[in-house]
Amino acid sequence: MATTDPDCIFCKIASGEIGARVVHRDEHAIAFLDMAPWHEGHTVVVPRRHVKDVLDEPTALAEIAPAVSATAKLLVDRLGADGINVLSNAGEVAGQTVFHLHVHLVPRYAAEPGIGALVQQRDPGDLDAVLARLTNGQL
Ligand code: 5GP
Ligand code: ZN
Repeated sequence: MATTDPDCIFCKIASGEIGARVVHRDEHAIAFLDMAPWHEGHTVVVPRRHVKDVLDEPTALAEIAPAVSATAKLLVDRLGADGINVLSNAGEVAGQTVFHLHVHLVPRYAAEPGIGALVQQRDPGDLDAVLARLTNGQL
């Protein structure tokens, strides 16, 4: 199994070849703001190595679990979210569009509750302002 895929957008973000608004990183994972957020602060957490999805490889999800937990807490603490959805799509039929494992972390706010209000097209807003609230410009 290749550890990087030269055609994969998330491999390019993980290597730094393509920029992203990084909010957390550790040895195994990188977390960055989704460019088309479902709610303010929507972040994806990805392994640094190329893994297709949660079905592809048995240890990959565990490997990124510490980053998922740390990033979820960061989003709730810094953005004042009232809750969070944690989701990973595996396979085209499940809605996966980027075939490099990622966990969506979607902060949720009391003003727009419920699972029906999870996935919506919306104005992305000021992503750089959200990044600054999450990182204080330190990543
Ligand atoms: P999926 O549909 O595969 O579960 O989720 C892929 C997510 O990655 C989408 O929410 C999409 O907006 C996000 N995404 C795709 N390409 C990029 C990119 O180049 N940069 C960022 N920040 N997000 C991306
Ligand atoms: Zn990849």
